Amino acid sequence: MGECVALVVAAGRGERFGGEIPKQYMALGGEPLLRRTLRAFLDHPAVDAVRPVIHPGDRALFDVSAAGMELLEPVAGGATRQDSVRLGLESLAGMAPYSVLIHDAARPFVDEGLISRALSALDEVPAAIPGIPVSDTLKRAAAGAMPPRLVAGTVDRSDLWRAQTPQAFRFTDILDAHRRLADETLTDDAAVAEGAGLAVALVTGSEDNFKITTADDLDRGQRLLGGGEIRTGMGYDVHRFGPGDHVMLCGVAVPFDAGLVGHSDADVGLHALTDALLGAIGAGDIGSHFPPTDPRWRDVPSATFLRHAGDLITARQGTILNLDVTVICEKPRLAPHRTAMVERIAEILELAADRVSVKGTTTEGLGFTGRGEGIAAQGIATIIFK
Ligand code: MG
Repeated sequence: MGECVALVVAAGRGERFGGEIPKQYMALGGEPLLRRTLRAFLDHPAVDAVRPVIHPGDRALFDVSAAGMELLEPVAGGATRQDSVRLGLESLAGMAPYSVLIHDAARPFVDEGLISRALSALDEVPAAIPGIPVSDTLKRAAAGAMPPRLVAGTVDRSDLWRAQTPQAFRFTDILDAHRRLADETLTDDAAVAEGAGLAVALVTGSEDNFKITTADDLDRGQRLLGGGEIRTGMGYDVHRFGPGDHVMLCGVAVPFDAGLVGHSDADVGLHALTDALLGAIGAGDIGSHFPPTDPRWRDVPSATFLRHAGDLITARQGTILNLDVTVICEKPRLAPHRTAMVERIAEILELAADRVSVKGTTTEGLGFTGRGEGIAAQGIATIIFK
């Protein structure tokens, strides 16, 4: 059947998606989305080589994403997807494989069977694409953008299919078609083939082979992979009473006839939660990030420590599901300040308040807290990682 090369088009900048990095380099199930896509083709027995087409500005992202993979050297894409595909095809002209699969990097759930179906069809026709018959009733909207949008008519869907990738082509035919139609704007490679008069077959696509275009699509992908990894962390802290007229507890100044002794503001509640967050990612404890010997942290508000731990979670693609802290002391009474504490913690970490819990308890007069020597706190954090 001859040599087959997969052209994986990853040159887009994903303006629709937003975010700091292009979507094909974002994490999906703990690895870059592009890596999952590339692997689908590298692992396919009928695919001999994989040529990525990337944006030249994304080379560093690409190198990290494709580390250790045996790929053809990536080539630079053009201003449009159509340009990028044509440049990718030109880069294979010397190799002149029998067939080429052209695939969007943003479809990471392409499966082996689908690739095989598209390739097999090339025995009969010069081009084949996966598609799914449209099952929803289609409406044509009337002109005008103001709501309510009105329906102008119902479209007959009986012969309509949604096109996917990879689209399979006999190489010389599609290269020739792209060269001839380079000046026309066409939305997929099958349209280029059609424009050049090639017969294009439809093979059965897959609903899972959807294109990741929005943040919702990325969430759908995460769900498909089982929703990510859940971790918990715990923290415990104690500070002794000393001179003062208030104590900082869970980010709130609580009037009292003593203070808490500590290098920072000695907020046991926020310290326990900071350690819980650090514990969930195995990142040491609050003392290793903010050593009490370092004068920079003297009298610093503990919100700084908690926010830092929250930033480390975010940097690892973690999302805090909930935080729960128990403050242990005979006095002062926590109840009048509980709501303010919950709201302050939620504010520091930019969480919804219903993901934060603050509780107070005594030790029935027993132990150091019972004797009024200090305050203890226990915290627990639950985090989901993409
Ligand atoms: Mg402490």
